[in-house]
Amino acid sequence: MPLADPAIIGDEARLKRLHQLALMDSAADPAFDRLTRLASKIIGAPISLVSLVDVNRQFFKSEFGLGEPLRSQRGTTIEYSYCQHVVASHSPLIVSDARLDPRLYDNPAIAELNAIAYAGMPLMTSDGQVLGSFCVVDNVPREWTPEQIEILRELSLAAMTEIELREQLLERQLIEQELRDNRQQLIESQRFVERLIHTLPDVVYLFDLDLAQIVYVNTEIDQVLGYSQDEYQTFSGEKLYSLVHRDDQPALRQAIHQRAGLKDGEFIELDYRIRTAGGSYLWVHAREAVFLRDEQGGVRQVVGVVQDISRRKQDEAMLRGYVNSLEALRHVDVELGETLDLNSVVEVAMDAALRISAADDAFIALAHEDSFEVLAGVGGYKVGMRFERGQGIVERVLRSHTAEIVDDVTDDPDYVPVIQNTISQMCIPLTHRDRMIGVIGLESRTRGRFTHEALQFLTLVAGRITIAIDNAQLYARSQEQLLSLAELYQRVSDLEQMKTDMIRIAAHDLRNPLGVVLGYSELLMESDPVEDPPAKDFIRNIHNGGQKMKKIIDDILALQRSEVAAANATHEKVDLNALVQAAFADQEAAAQTKCLRYTLEPSDSPLPLTGDPGQLHEAIVNLINNAIKYTPEGGQVSVRVYREGKSAVFEVRDTGYGIPEEAQARLFQPFYRVPSEQTARIDGTGLGLHLVRNIVSRHFGRMRFSSKVGEGSLFGFEIPLMR
Ligand code: ADP
Repeated sequence: MPLADPAIIGDEARLKRLHQLALMDSAADPAFDRLTRLASKIIGAPISLVSLVDVNRQFFKSEFGLGEPLRSQRGTTIEYSYCQHVVASHSPLIVSDARLDPRLYDNPAIAELNAIAYAGMPLMTSDGQVLGSFCVVDNVPREWTPEQIEILRELSLAAMTEIELREQLLERQLIEQELRDNRQQLIESQRFVERLIHTLPDVVYLFDLDLAQIVYVNTEIDQVLGYSQDEYQTFSGEKLYSLVHRDDQPALRQAIHQRAGLKDGEFIELDYRIRTAGGSYLWVHAREAVFLRDEQGGVRQVVGVVQDISRRKQDEAMLRGYVNSLEALRHVDVELGETLDLNSVVEVAMDAALRISAADDAFIALAHEDSFEVLAGVGGYKVGMRFERGQGIVERVLRSHTAEIVDDVTDDPDYVPVIQNTISQMCIPLTHRDRMIGVIGLESRTRGRFTHEALQFLTLVAGRITIAIDNAQLYARSQEQLLSLAELYQRVSDLEQMKTDMIRIAAHDLRNPLGVVLGYSELLMESDPVEDPPAKDFIRNIHNGGQKMKKIIDDILALQRSEVAAANATHEKVDLNALVQAAFADQEAAAQTKCLRYTLEPSDSPLPLTGDPGQLHEAIVNLINNAIKYTPEGGQVSVRVYREGKSAVFEVRDTGYGIPEEAQARLFQPFYRVPSEQTARIDGTGLGLHLVRNIVSRHFGRMRFSSKVGEGSLFGFEIPLMR
């Protein structure tokens, strides 16, 4: 049984410790050699060893008295090792004769190396790991005395002290090496950081929390903020805080509070505006992290990187502006689409203008002949306020039809103040189809407040507003006109009623006395009681006068009847062919009296239509009667009725006086008579044609008419046939 318990020999913690000490295969060391030599001398043993036991071999850190080749080999494989048993048992191994020992009797070292007697002490570290053995060996059997064993123990302890001393030394060397490496690394990384910082386009700074000031800043500070490196490095926390824009200070204060609680790997990030050496504000993005901690782990210094983000902020602001403007424009479109009321229109417009421009004072004014009238106002401008026309930037803009931004009104020779404290002004004309409607004026107490983008958008808005204002004004005007039309209509209706009443009264009141006149004059004529011829003539005149009066009354009543009939006309089936034939027959006697050639050309089939037979008869008789009346004796009157497409047509043609062109347009107006010498003595009222036209249009028909002076006329109408 040559091997000790392999579990103990191969124990991981033990082996780790053994290798940590870096003794295996290390060079011979006089300190250990002194101990082995001493052991052999005092104890009187030929061989003494400091043996370190690895998993499959033992290494002699020191030996005394070994022969070759072992002396050079400085160790054996594990089978030859007696020391392994010291390691395995954690205790001394004292053997007088290995051949008789149950643990060693079959160890090849007995025969090959002649190792007979053995005394070994464990080499135990302070944390309890046995690394090997300090032993003495003899080639003959021998008893080891207690004194010898005690000396061996002392020497083993001394060896162990040496081992641990070396370990400490080694550790220190390692630490020193590490320190050296670290320092080198630090120098390298410092150089790298410096190079990096130098090439960065951003400002890099160190801020010391205890000193409350900047302790380092790179040269980029000059490029970005315009301060020199030296100047900035003296800036206190307070000074830096004061450089930050007032609106951004609360956020900065919060960030400063966070500094003390920063963990490693954490960042504080913040966007803010900082005043440059030139006095303007620059948008920057700052990012801070812990750079140095004090002994208690508190944050001592932070490193920060400051980046110029003014371009990004500008783009963002521009984008926000566009979105705002589009939103306003959409709002304007929606609102203006819904209203025709002028007040609402200007309110919407004002709202949009303010939203886009962020003006302090604003107005929308209508342009009158000699003044501007404020329809909507904000700030110093009030609704109803008026200011003079003919001068100022507003007038210039209105006349040139061109919107303008004036960054500083005090530099503008045309400027005439209306309110106090205005510095910059933006003015957009409201013109529609070259008509000057008014202006939108926006004013600010800050120089250069208005942007070109705002102007462009407001010009778009102005276009829409102008149309809306124009529409609203037109609508208001049309509402007024509608109102006066309604009034007019009422007046006309009243007059119409009055006329109707008068006609009715006149007709009724005239009819009775006229009846008496006619009655008695007829009696007088028949009985011939008066022999005096002139008296007879008088009586005839009375009669004729009476006849004329009757005709007038009949015409008036017919017209009134036809107008009344408009409301309660009958709608029955009528044959126009039959109607015309009957009317033709009625007028035959009159035609004969004037020796006219009087002819009729009827239709061969009925011409059915829907209508009022009485009214249609009246219309036909009127036209035939006119033809007879206005044709001199011996002339010709021809009547015709026929079908033409879907209409029934009635026409009467005469060879009479005809009607001059200039009179034709007024022919169908009530009471109009053609002023001609030839027809002046022909009785009439000028109501007949008007009556006919009304009747025809009530039957959805159209008049037919043509005439030539000296040749004759054609009168007639066409009415749709019944379907
Ligand atoms: P009245 O015959 O009672 O004067 P009308 O309205 O029937 O009224 O006719 C209006 C005018 O048209 C007449 O005064 C006459 O001058 C002219 N007129 C009508 N019919 C004819 C016709 N067939 N030939 C010439 N003139 C006519």
